[in-house]
Amino acid sequence: MSYVDEVISEVIRKNPGEPEFHQAVKEVLESIRVVVEKNEESYRRDALLERLVAPEREIKFRVPWVDDKGQVQVNSGYRVQYNSAIGPYKGGIRLHPSVNIGIIKFLGFEQVFKNSLTGLPIGGGKGGSDFDPKGKSDREVMAFCQSFITELYKYIGQDTDVPAGDIGTGAREIGYMYGQYKRIRGVFEGVLTGKGLSYGGSLARREATGYGLLYITAEMLKSRGIGIEGKTVAVSGAGNVAIYAIEKAQQLGAKVVTASDSTGWVYDPDGIDLAALKEIKEVKRARLSEYKNYRPSSEYHEGRGVWSVKVDIALPCATQNELHLEDAKMLVANGVTVVAEGANMPTTAEATEYLQKNGVLFLPGKAANAGGVATSALEMSQNSERLHWSFEEVDEKLKGIMTSLFHNIDNAAKKYGFEGNYVVGANIAGFEKVVDAMTAQGIV
Ligand code: NDP
Repeated sequence: MSYVDEVISEVIRKNPGEPEFHQAVKEVLESIRVVVEKNEESYRRDALLERLVAPEREIKFRVPWVDDKGQVQVNSGYRVQYNSAIGPYKGGIRLHPSVNIGIIKFLGFEQVFKNSLTGLPIGGGKGGSDFDPKGKSDREVMAFCQSFITELYKYIGQDTDVPAGDIGTGAREIGYMYGQYKRIRGVFEGVLTGKGLSYGGSLARREATGYGLLYITAEMLKSRGIGIEGKTVAVSGAGNVAIYAIEKAQQLGAKVVTASDSTGWVYDPDGIDLAALKEIKEVKRARLSEYKNYRPSSEYHEGRGVWSVKVDIALPCATQNELHLEDAKMLVANGVTVVAEGANMPTTAEATEYLQKNGVLFLPGKAANAGGVATSALEMSQNSERLHWSFEEVDEKLKGIMTSLFHNIDNAAKKYGFEGNYVVGANIAGFEKVVDAMTAQGIV
């Protein structure tokens, strides 16, 4: 059995019941196979892949808090500090009922390569809890966040591990967590990113993931002599990534015709009304079914279906495994040319393979959504300098990072004979830097 296959089977054997983690490891290891084969002897001797797939540290803790009825609730909290070879651990905190250790490990593993691709000095980590902020009062969310940080504060710090937002963790949650950290530690430091502007947050961080997704998509198209203007786009999700992907797509002259949430999706043939979407999701925190009240000519559908619409570009921006094989078939039948992942691993392995085999340009999340963490790293720099950069300055840096990221993965794919395969390109480029740093630092 080859070294790659051995390590994949060991991961499956040692981490039972964690399908998303297995999927992420398989995808990465399969696509770096060509590099591993060239260095098999030394990698085996150093157990390099075994060290790469095993987190440096997994922390699980109890999060007790009191709800508005006086009832004590208990959630599970997690932080997986995956790899610190190139910098302090960095990665978001996900608050969603589906969170378990396998989900956090899959996200943390992906984060290692994504952070490496940004070119910035950040290692990979991820955290979260099965707490669901939906339907909770502000006081309940605060009680949870304070309890969560009362345990997590022991393991994080501006030079060790710097968490950020993710699904369910927005500006409100980061604010409560930051306040509690500062109260316990008595220090005002950049321990979290995604902070409010009045206490150390960065301009353009809120927009960064969605904007970055469009910058890299536009750069990829440009490298093939195609413009994004006039293209029709399907977006899934209606959260932070989706909203700012829609905003930038519209600014670049594309027409976005869909958005979705966990209950249904809208089709607006005239183009999504972004102001309405922001009001529904960012202000009212309401369901997407309300969109029809703003735009009577749009359609609202319960359940899934966003990928059935005829578009040129598809941007999955909701959650993992939301674009299935049958969706990929519909997209291809409808003539889609680009799928770029705003979310983390939103496309299943079979769907990815189908899209690539059918000539669709596919940008994987670890490259396409890296703008968020890159701008988080820019927030860390501003905190260290105790300075604020302007929106334009941060946005310009973000654009530069996404542009060179594209060329980095494009060149890595070409170098190993996989031209146009950005999954392979991203995994190899991310891997090479991490491995170089791990090797230089010895067996640790
Ligand atoms: P949000 O919580 O702001 O939004 C998530 C959106 O996806 C919501 O519209 C939500 O619906 C929908 N959604 C969540 N779970 C499901 C599900 N199981 N089925 C259908 N729809 C679902 O999260 P973000 O926008 O921040 O994150 C979206 C994705 O992007 C995640 O994969 C995240 O890991 C990734 N990402 C985020 C970054 C960031 O900077 N925020 C950076 C890089 C990656 P509803 O409104 O009903 O909850």
